[in-house]
Order: sequence, then structure tokens, then C-alpha cells
Amino acid sequence: MTKKITVKTTLVEMDGDEMTRIMWQMVKDKLLFPYLDMNIDYYDLHVKHRDDTDDQVTVDSARATMKYGVAIKCATITPNEDRVKEYHLKKAWKSPNGTIRAMLDGTVFRKPILVKNIAPGVMSWKKPITIGRHAYGDVYDNFEMQIPGPGKLEIVFTPAGGQAQKTLVKEFPSAGILQVNHNLEASILSFARACFTYGLSEKVDVWFSTKDTISKKYDAGFRDIFDREFEANWKDKFAQAGIEYFFTLIDDAVARIMKTEGGLLWALKNYDGDVMSDMIASANGSLAMMTSVLVSPHGWFEYEAAHGTVQKHYYKHLKGEETSSNSMALIFAWTGGLRKRGELDGTPEVVRFADTLEAAALETVESGIMTGDLLLLAEKRPTNKKVNTEGFIDAIAETLKKKLHG
Ligand code: NAP
Ligand code: MG
Repeated sequence: MTKKITVKTTLVEMDGDEMTRIMWQMVKDKLLFPYLDMNIDYYDLHVKHRDDTDDQVTVDSARATMKYGVAIKCATITPNEDRVKEYHLKKAWKSPNGTIRAMLDGTVFRKPILVKNIAPGVMSWKKPITIGRHAYGDVYDNFEMQIPGPGKLEIVFTPAGGQAQKTLVKEFPSAGILQVNHNLEASILSFARACFTYGLSEKVDVWFSTKDTISKKYDAGFRDIFDREFEANWKDKFAQAGIEYFFTLIDDAVARIMKTEGGLLWALKNYDGDVMSDMIASANGSLAMMTSVLVSPHGWFEYEAAHGTVQKHYYKHLKGEETSSNSMALIFAWTGGLRKRGELDGTPEVVRFADTLEAAALETVESGIMTGDLLLLAEKRPTNKKVNTEGFIDAIAETLKKKLHG
């Protein structure tokens, strides 16, 4: 056995729920621990443990990310009423991702994981389309209310040290529902900067789209901040790099994206990015074929899988039935975090390990060994072989071993 590679700075680990928790452990045991010597600051975000700690553990995990800089997160349950009953929770706690993103701020970049034997659902897409999702505010940090019956809705804003200003919002003729969203200029500005930085470093065009025709203050406000920031600080750099910034109405962007070659960053508001990244991921094979990283303007990074806890597979697993769940996104969460740690620490051997593990995972799928979700979409070849959840990780471990030891 060769000497283990040392990861210099502590990594923050956020463990999760259900099927992804099971895969998470396998990934660590079979692909990471045999090769890496790492210090881990571990936070158990299992829904029961969040409940036991009144969600303090989620806040602590975000604080640890602020301290060390790089975190790796497993998928977690966002409790609803069913989950409250299922796990006997005190209440339907907030989404851990929401809590963490609200604390770290920033932008979530989601990029499909491409393999040679799976063609994207959209034939013109030749290069990956990356989503840049704003991670602050909007519907994820909203105020909602049921309006019981007819009445007047007014909004009061009191400027710090100033006079209250009251505005009539709506005369309700009957019962209804209400939602209040907000955002902060500073957060939108850092979203814009994160997207332009990403575009420049990856040498790809940056698209941004909102519903600015309808939402003339909110969505148009996003557009204006992007425009001002681009004109002031990025225009020349983009021209030199031969790339473009392009704003368009979201309807137009959705239609146009189907006809591009890909190879661009599509910046989207929080909700738009949430929804569109699932579309991009499944057009490229599976929700498990996508990487996701939260880049905070303060220089903190949180790597995660973009999919959920794969509940249906977990219930099969609990019944003792065989599952074929895909661990690609979880593996790429670890490699993304390790690569970033290596870059920040100046430890190229850690970067190399992350590259090698990713290559091993891609080669395994390209050799025809894959989970059920991918088998449906892959080029039909006689060598294709469906493996179960653990078999897939074992096959990657085999390839990794060969690549590292020759
Ligand atoms: P999900 O975990 O994203 O899975 C939805 C479906 O997508 C699965 O049933 C499966 O399809 C397919 N799929 C997703 N990931 C897969 C993988 N790794 N390998 C193979 N197939 C995969 O969503 P869910 O099951 O509806 O949600 C479960 C929980 O996840 C919810 O409690 C939700 O709150 C949480 N969630 C967490 C995050 C996060 O932490 N990042 C994000 C979204 C949702 P088939 O059944 O057809 O095989
Ligand atoms: Mg989503």
C-alpha cells in the first residue's frame, strides 16, 4: 500500500439522509479513506439529528464552512408534513440548503457531467450548459400568508431612523393567498460578479434572463445591476477573451437555449435556477449527472449533489430489494471539494487525486458499467452492464486502483 495523500486543511462534511446517506458512506469507505489522510469536521444533518438539535447543527455546519472555507454536503430531507409524521419531528424545519445558502450567500453553479456514450436529449448541445443560480432570497426566504376574506392589504416600510411609509398593495375582494419576496442589492451584485468571474475563467459566454417585462422593479432591478456591473468592470475583459454577456427575457432564453451548441453559463434567479438545472441535468442523462457548488462572495465553497435523497430507492433498500442508484453527483461533490482544497492549500497531489477519481468514474460509465438511470439513455452496446448501487462504486474503485497503482 502506498502512502496516503495528506489533505492539509480540515474539510467540513455535512452528512445527509436516506439513499444518499448510504451511498455517501460507501464513497468515503471505498474511494476516499483508502487513499487520503484528511481531517474532517463532521456535521450530521440527518433529519432526526437536525430535529434533536433544533436545527442548530445546520447553523453550526454553515459556521464551520465560514471557518475552514470548503464544505462537502450530502443530500438532505426538507421536511414537509409527511416527513414530520414519518420521522416524528417537532416541526417541519426549514430546508438545510436554504439555511446554509442564506448564511453563506452567493451563487450555485451547476454543470452537467458529460460522458461519451450518453448523447444529450437536445441534439444541438455539444458542450455543457452551466447554470449559475443565485442562492439568496426570493421565494426561498419569503413571507407567506393566507388572506381569510375581503380586506385591504397594505405594506409598511419604515426606513432606519425615518418615517413609516404605507402603500396600498391590493383590495382583496375575497379570500386569497399572499407572498412577499425580497432581495438585497449587495447580494445581486455579488451574484453578477460571481457569474462574470466564472464566465471569464471558463472562457464561456454569460447569459442572464429574468421576467423584466412584467416585473419592472424586481426582475428589472436584477437586470440593471448586472448591466451596470458589466459595463463598469467586465466589458473590456470579455472583449479581450472573445466572450459575450447577453441579457434576454427568460421566455426568449428558454427558447434559444434549445438551439445553441451549449458551452455557456446561464445565470438565473434563485427559483428559475432551481427548476432549470433539473431540466439541464435530465437532458444530459440523469439528476445524478450534474455537479453543484455554492460559491460565496466571501471565498467559501460548498460542494453538493444537485439531486435529493432518492427516497423511492431508499424504501426499496429498506425492504431488502436491490437498488441501482447513481453516486456520480456525490462523488463529484467530494472531488470538487478536494480539488478546491488542494488549490487553496497549494497541494497539487490532492488536485491530482481528485482529477484521477473523476476520470475513473467517467471511464467506468464509458466502459459500459452503469446504474439503471443511465442504462436507459446510453448508446446500446453489447458490453453495457447494469450494476447495483454498491456494484457501481466497486467498479469505480477498481478503475481508480488501476489508475493510481498502474
Ligand atoms: P430525488 O432524490 O431528486 O429523486 C427523484 C427521482 O429522480 C428518483 O426517484 C429517481 O428516479 C431519480 N434520481 C434522483 N437521483 C438519483 C440518483 N442518484 N440515482 C438514480 N436516480 C436518481 O427527489 P425525491 O426522491 O423526490 O426527494 C427526496 C428528498 O430529497 C425530499 O425529502 C427532498 O426534500 C429532498 N431534496 C434534497 C435536495 C438536496 O439536499 N440537495 C434536493 C432536492 C430534494 P426513479 O425513481 O425513476 O429511479
Ligand atoms: Mg431543484
